[in-house]
Amino acid sequence: MHDNKKNQELMDKITSLCKRRGFIYQGSEIYGGLAGTWDYGPLGVALKENIKALWRKQFVYNREDMYEVDAALLMNPKVWEASGHVAGFSDPLTECTQCKRRFRADQLEDPTKCPECDGALGEPRQFNMMFKTQIGAMEDSSSIAYFRPETAQGMFVNFKNVIDSFHPKLPFGMAQIGKAFRNEITPRDFIFRVREFEQMEIEYFIHESQWEATFEEWRKGMHEWMRTIGLPEKNIHELEVPKDDLAHYSKRTIDFEFDFPFGRKELYGLAYRTDFDLQNHSQASTVELTYLDEEAKEKIVPHVIEPTFGLDRTVLAILTAAYHEDEKDGEVRSFLKLKPQIAPVICAVSPLLKNKPELVAKAREVFTLLKEKFGRVMWDDNGNIGKRYRRQDEIGTPWCIVVDFDTLGEGGDALRDTVTVRDRDSGQQTRVAIDALLTTIATHLK
Ligand code: ATP
Repeated sequence: MHDNKKNQELMDKITSLCKRRGFIYQGSEIYGGLAGTWDYGPLGVALKENIKALWRKQFVYNREDMYEVDAALLMNPKVWEASGHVAGFSDPLTECTQCKRRFRADQLEDPTKCPECDGALGEPRQFNMMFKTQIGAMEDSSSIAYFRPETAQGMFVNFKNVIDSFHPKLPFGMAQIGKAFRNEITPRDFIFRVREFEQMEIEYFIHESQWEATFEEWRKGMHEWMRTIGLPEKNIHELEVPKDDLAHYSKRTIDFEFDFPFGRKELYGLAYRTDFDLQNHSQASTVELTYLDEEAKEKIVPHVIEPTFGLDRTVLAILTAAYHEDEKDGEVRSFLKLKPQIAPVICAVSPLLKNKPELVAKAREVFTLLKEKFGRVMWDDNGNIGKRYRRQDEIGTPWCIVVDFDTLGEGGDALRDTVTVRDRDSGQQTRVAIDALLTTIATHLK
């Protein structure tokens, strides 16, 4: 089959699995949707939260030099003037003179011809991607505000607060996980390009002289992160952004691109933002944003290295890398090969038969034991065991635990109080003592 068609089919399968099984739904679906918005269902929320928890562990909690903030989504419009977003956060927009559809001019193979109707495209003009809103009851220019298009500025405007509260020594970093909004001209490719998304960002403050070494450290740190979440190395490619294409604040940027089914596209970025933001905010706010270097006895404006991670793109990369199909007994099985730390459900517990009260009671005992310890544990007694396995495979549950008559001691004392643990990827079943379940699973989660 032609690769494009196969890749489109793969995306269709993943999108449909996400909807069917409660990972991701179309935003405002019952009203026909709202372009560029998606809603996360229970399994999607769990997946995202697991990713965030791992990110925090690796980049905040396992270190001593990180300060996490959670800034407001709405910020004083002066922030966006100083950061350069009001003047320059735009994409080139072009409109078809015939069908009136709009496109991003820099994403078209032929910027003169409409890809939908072959009509002539107009001259591109710059389109600012920030979402504007009105604050308070007055509707005039003084009440204009913007939803933040990146989380970065929430950290720069809190730089002084963190210095004053914690007196960190350089180098140190600030981290933030949160929503960002961009009025994308052409949202597309499921959750890849959307108008409301989440970012996980770090601003790492340094002496200017350290920028190259620190950039290199973060480059390695980002690769380590991608290994942690199970993205295959072969699908990750670094792109050195050419000087002419650098964002207005950057002296060097590497894009980490990922082989998505719809092509090789930006997953993450690593930028050397110099002291651009702190200098501009100092000037515009007239509040000094400096660091007192006690050894040199001088105040300096730190430079900054910024690793940025799109959370929704992370979810998509993980899902596309994890989606597998194999054939068992003439039946195609689809399963998500998710790392246990990331899987929305760590394990599912079932009684072999749901109409045998003694099996159900014992299975509930095992379920409660695991649920209290791990939280992400599901009770599943619908349909036969084979169907339950398929259902759990499809949502990436690493282990299914079944309580049967042997658990109750009917097969002799040797098997009493043991359960079947079935592995998602190999389909192999092993017998594990209930007493050993907690440690067995905890070991896998490490
Ligand atoms: P692109 O070139 O794909 O528009 P960008 O270079 O503008 O992305 P950045 O401004 O560097 O992106 O944003 C940091 C990260 O935020 C990106 O690496 C990506 O993971 C994520 N991101 C940016 N725009 C979107 C979007 N519209 N939808 C989902 N994630 C996004």
